[in-house]
Amino acid sequence: MTDKRCRVLGYSVDLLTFGEAVDFILNKIKNNIGLHIITINPEIIFAADKNRELSEIIKASELVLPESSGIVKALSFKGIKQEQIPGIDFSKRLLQKCAVLNYPVALIGAKEHVIIKAVNNLKKELPSLNIVYFHDGYFEKEDEVINEIVKNKPKLILCALGAPKQEMFIKKCKKIYNNGVYIGIGGSFDVWAGEVKRAPKIFQKLGLEWLYRTIKQPERIKRIYKTLPVFLFRAIIDSVNK
Ligand code: UDP
Repeated sequence: MTDKRCRVLGYSVDLLTFGEAVDFILNKIKNNIGLHIITINPEIIFAADKNRELSEIIKASELVLPESSGIVKALSFKGIKQEQIPGIDFSKRLLQKCAVLNYPVALIGAKEHVIIKAVNNLKKELPSLNIVYFHDGYFEKEDEVINEIVKNKPKLILCALGAPKQEMFIKKCKKIYNNGVYIGIGGSFDVWAGEVKRAPKIFQKLGLEWLYRTIKQPERIKRIYKTLPVFLFRAIIDSVNK
């Protein structure tokens, strides 16, 4: 946990810059301190409101990063200027650092052909990256995956199983192996595998990546229209009552 935090709809968000958050994590890795990073967005807040275990996991997290423009907007209603820190960019930066510092990493999640492609692409991009273990996200025997993590002792464990599955998996795994930094990063392996395209930079810069994803995957409209307007409305009320 950092000392610069602010609450958004009852959940603390760390107010660090991208660079400060990277340094915070590298320091924890160096000192063998395990932790769980949450990348928070309106969808996960709404899911947590209905799921007590998820809500407790978010509240216990040592670092909560403002993943989406919705969270950044909610903070701005409280007069706070905060940089958006997408999990996909943040975890890529951590991988780059791990490659340089020779910290072992593990990757769990996505379909089998996707994770294989993502691992191959990462090895091409970061030849010195030490991937000690990877597995797709459709396993039945969770304990076997956890045992492999314990055996291979990664310092960074990227879990891309979608929310809230990845958060539940991390909670269980961290109880058994607490010598690494865990982060749940949703569909990031699909992007690194080249299976899904990220929004053009202009959408990312304007905080409109969600809009691009919704146009490309119209089935997401239900998820967005149910959450975003309600979230912003609640965030305004929250800022008035602060
Ligand atoms: N996934 C997985 N195991 C599951 C369900 C999903 O590994 O049991 C993967 C899925 O293949 C995809 C990612 O989790 O790669 C979820 O992507 P999505 O974009 O839905 O995640 P979000 O970022 O919206 O949480």
